[in-house]
Amino acid sequence: AKEHGRGRFEVFVPSLGARNRRASQVEAALREAIERGEMSLEWQPQVEVRAWKVASAEALLRWNHPELGAVEPSEFIPVAERCGLIADIGNWAMARACTEAQAALPGLAISVNVSPVQLMQEGFVEHVQQALRQSGLPPSRLEIEITESVFMDDPSAALSHLHALKALGVRIALDDFGTGYSAFQYLRRFPFDTLKIDRAFVRELMTHHDARAIVRTIVQLATTLGMHTIAEGVEEPVQLEVLNHAGCQSIQGYLIARPMPLLRLLPFLEGWAGI
Ligand code: C2E
Ligand code: CA
Ligand code: CA
Ligand code: CA
Repeated sequence: AKEHGRGRFEVFVPSLGARNRRASQVEAALREAIERGEMSLEWQPQVEVRAWKVASAEALLRWNHPELGAVEPSEFIPVAERCGLIADIGNWAMARACTEAQAALPGLAISVNVSPVQLMQEGFVEHVQQALRQSGLPPSRLEIEITESVFMDDPSAALSHLHALKALGVRIALDDFGTGYSAFQYLRRFPFDTLKIDRAFVRELMTHHDARAIVRTIVQLATTLGMHTIAEGVEEPVQLEVLNHAGCQSIQGYLIARPMPLLRLLPFLEGWAGI
């Protein structure tokens, strides 16, 4: 509580000022994070339900700052997008993911998140090409994940970068499907290989009966359009059961494993025999 005039106190809620201070703190620290080696990746396995096989893994950025501690991507990615650091951070993650995968994860496909802001940057496609060349990772083993907000700003610019990536042989996934702005025409116009059903739908499978019908419809739509389907945030066996029944091909979530550093993923893959 903070004193306010004579004997008056008010409960502390972070004011706009405090939130801005935190954001500028994060921004200042973020500018040095890569050089100081504070960034790393964790990997979360993705399982093909039919074959019950770990076929791929998603790379997720981690940032550990000596004073701020572990800052979550949901906090620092938006800051990076606003202050022009997303290209550096995103390119670092892309290069690192390709290198780790080629060096240590033979045969595994990988997914790397790409912010729409990063996707639109001039030179983005060249950076991906360079990451592939320097690591030696075959393009067919790389998938990028982008969210629906890519439709908002400048769909035609986004589309041209995505087509260039496709021409390299890289796969494209639409992340968080169903949470934002999706129109059927975009699903047809954009070259998506994979549709990733958002955790919100998966969560509702437990409580809302119509969520099952919605998921079934999403899977049918994706299948009709020739896309692979994966559901994220699968935590409960019953969710897996419903998703499998709906025809969803792959799953990812705490039911299988939490994201983990490369050094833990290796023994996980060796010991994979199911859950
Ligand atoms: P996302 O791409 O939707 O990633 C899934 C998030 O859900 C991850 O959070 C993951 O740890 C978490 N998750 C996975 N399985 C479960 C589950 O079963 N239950 C629950 N409750 N959560 C689960 P994380 O790692 O904190 O990442 C948050 C977001 O930050 C990501 O959402 C993505 O949008 C962004 N992000 C992460 N790494 C990168 C990156 O390298 N580049 C960009 N541009 N964005 C990234
Ligand atoms: Ca993702
Ligand atoms: Ca997602
Ligand atoms: Ca999500």
